[in-house]
Amino acid sequence: MKNKLGLILIGLCLALTPALAATPNNAAGPISDAGTRVTKKPFGLKVSPKSSPIKPERFSGYHTGVDFETTTAEQKLNITIYAICDGRLLLKKYASGYGGVAVQSCVLNKQNVTVVYGHLRLSSITLKAGKAIKAGQPLGLLGAGYSQETDGERKHLHLGIHKGKAINLSGYVKTKKELSQWLDYLSLFK
Ligand SMILES: [Zn+2]
Repeated sequence: MKNKLGLILIGLCLALTPALAATPNNAAGPISDAGTRVTKKPFGLKVSPKSSPIKPERFSGYHTGVDFETTTAEQKLNITIYAICDGRLLLKKYASGYGGVAVQSCVLNKQNVTVVYGHLRLSSITLKAGKAIKAGQPLGLLGAGYSQETDGERKHLHLGIHKGKAINLSGYVKTKKELSQWLDYLSLFK
């Protein structure tokens, strides 16, 4: 009987292994249901206080990231944010427009990038700057909506991917040329 159980366990492991290994680029979703979660602001959307889907809006320009919204039920829950790639945490700090923000250095599609995770609860990011993070590893929690943790914004994740190694915290840029220095998470990982 013991042998039979062993064989079943080995079989189960073999069956699960391809699913775990299939993740492209060592990439993982930044939030549960990332692929289907509603976004009020997709990558590259041009907003102004008049035209924005968010009211009131204090920003203008092309949106450099993707916003992942939260549901009503999620407002009081802890929402974990995960690293989307392997790479070091470059910084975590409080920044105007974001509240808590973290930046990670990664290589995606053989290209150096920095990943901006915006509107996090700064105190929930326990990793120190300089530490290596694995794709799928919890990075921290979303900040509470309309609080200092999100600098007054609704509870959502802003995820920006900037080309190169330089840290750039811009959530919006003025020109399409500047926007070309940013990548759309949802196009990269669909
Ligand atoms: Zn955003």
